[in-house]
Amino acid sequence: MLRRTSQRGAILEALRGTHRHPTAAELHCVVRRRLPRISLGTVYRNLEVLARAGLVQRLGAAGAEMRFDARVEPHNHVRCVRCGRMCDLELVEQPVELSAARRTTGFEILSASLEFRGLCPECGRSRASVGRDPAASLKMMQSISTRRKSR
Ligand SMILES: [Zn+2]
Ligand SMILES: [Zn+2]
Repeated sequence: MLRRTSQRGAILEALRGTHRHPTAAELHCVVRRRLPRISLGTVYRNLEVLARAGLVQRLGAAGAEMRFDARVEPHNHVRCVRCGRMCDLELVEQPVELSAARRTTGFEILSASLEFRGLCPECGRSRASVGRDPAASLKMMQSISTRRKSR
């Protein structure tokens, strides 16, 4: 059973109080207002425990920073390829054919969710430099290596 520490409770509460799908670092900023001494590492570790317990969903993508969601049932997302911002995406119809997925892979499909990628409204305004901005890709690589070190 999951032991409910005050730190873990504060992290879960902070995540449930936002729809922004924050990174561990963003969540750390919020939780620190209540628990000034909590470290980023503690936030990471507790998020892992919460994810294993099924209370939190991890939203990872290759090359993107891990984000967290307190909404754990399968749902769709749209992710900004530039700033990483994520929003829930409600679709009237799930455009995935579950029977076709089962037929072609032999998997018993239990759930499905989609991630759409694009540019958020802010990033869309400066779309001309997407993919051609060496400073942006350098920044991204730095954030990846920082993340590896902090593990
Ligand atoms: Zn963006
Ligand atoms: Zn979500």
